[in-house]
Amino acid sequence: NQHLSDRINNMSTSATLAMAAKTRELRNEGKDIIGLSLGEPDFNIPDFIKDAAKQAIDDNYSSYSPVDGYADLKKAIANKFKRDNNLEYGLNQIVVSTGAKQSLANVAMCMLNQGDEVILPAPYWVSYSDIVKLAEGTPVEVPTSIDTDFKMTPEQLEAAITPKTKMLWFSSPCNPSGSVYSLAELEGLAEVLRKHPGIFVVSDEIYEHINFRGGHVSIAGIEGMYDRTITVNGVSKAFAMTGWRIGYLGAAAWIAKACTKFQGQMTSGANAIAQRATITALEAPLSKIQFMIDKFHERRDLILKLLGEIEGFSLNVPEGAFYVFPEISYFFGKTLNGVTINNASDFALYLLEHANVATVTGEAFGNPNCIRISYAASEDELKEAVKRIKEVL
Ligand code: PLP
Repeated sequence: NQHLSDRINNMSTSATLAMAAKTRELRNEGKDIIGLSLGEPDFNIPDFIKDAAKQAIDDNYSSYSPVDGYADLKKAIANKFKRDNNLEYGLNQIVVSTGAKQSLANVAMCMLNQGDEVILPAPYWVSYSDIVKLAEGTPVEVPTSIDTDFKMTPEQLEAAITPKTKMLWFSSPCNPSGSVYSLAELEGLAEVLRKHPGIFVVSDEIYEHINFRGGHVSIAGIEGMYDRTITVNGVSKAFAMTGWRIGYLGAAAWIAKACTKFQGQMTSGANAIAQRATITALEAPLSKIQFMIDKFHERRDLILKLLGEIEGFSLNVPEGAFYVFPEISYFFGKTLNGVTINNASDFALYLLEHANVATVTGEAFGNPNCIRISYAASEDELKEAVKRIKEVL
């Protein structure tokens, strides 16, 4: 539309949300679609967190909160960073936002000037690229493949750096590949970054607890990285609180201050009730959420086994998050039930229309040879979905 800004006209629609909309549309037509496209735990929020929210309503937490979050929530976040990541962040280094998504947007808007390059190891989370572009930055994709478990090597990082490189953004555990960077792998990246002191890092750790190998590592804890790493996290995934919209970051005080200034003009403090409930979530022992992690682990094993039986699916073993990211280029150029598959988008659409299974094309994540399948669904749904996929292939 010519009356809309270039900003919005040039932005792509979130592919995962678009797939969810298409799924809803087909369901409304009466089709029985199994939705494996969304990045959302299928568990209810644990009762002790719900109780905290109810209490917050009764306690009249109904006014604007401080822009950067309640002080006692920031204290709980500081304790969490210390407990889980051995990172020391003072309260002036923490900003609470409306989801990790807003934390990322704040950082982009505060750190990037036009033409600043942001290295995105691909596959990357779908929104990184558009958030960076919105802030007039230039995404620089570094393609990885299944051979390196979809992780960027130090050599690839070095080769991608130019005088315009301002930041590196990545997630570990990774959405969409489920890959988890080990300490040694992060040290390899840090060694390169130490040679380039002007490059900042966004470490998106929102899947931190959904980790089946154990031993989550925060890059901020590695020598030379603390001052220039923005550690982003939130409660959406580990606590199944996606709709409550609380995320946060820990960073150098001057970055946190800038993000608070920006957020103060955009949205103000995050939802007061959800902030209060987040204190309870973060202060609880991790044993309270272990049942969800165990379930995701079982389902990962199940879906890997089932998909492994389909010819043409190449799989890495995701060690975290709740996605598998099979390489399916084997099917390119083939015609199935009269439909020619030329790329991952054709493949995902074919699965939706012929198998009634919603997945997401890897193209949205910067990898044109894969699709993303979320296994945040019941075992029966996963079994039925793979059975249907097998039939139509
Ligand atoms: N980062 C990654 C890698 C994600 O997968 C998601 C959600 O899908 C987010 C950030 C956003 O999380 P939030 O719900 O806290 O905005």
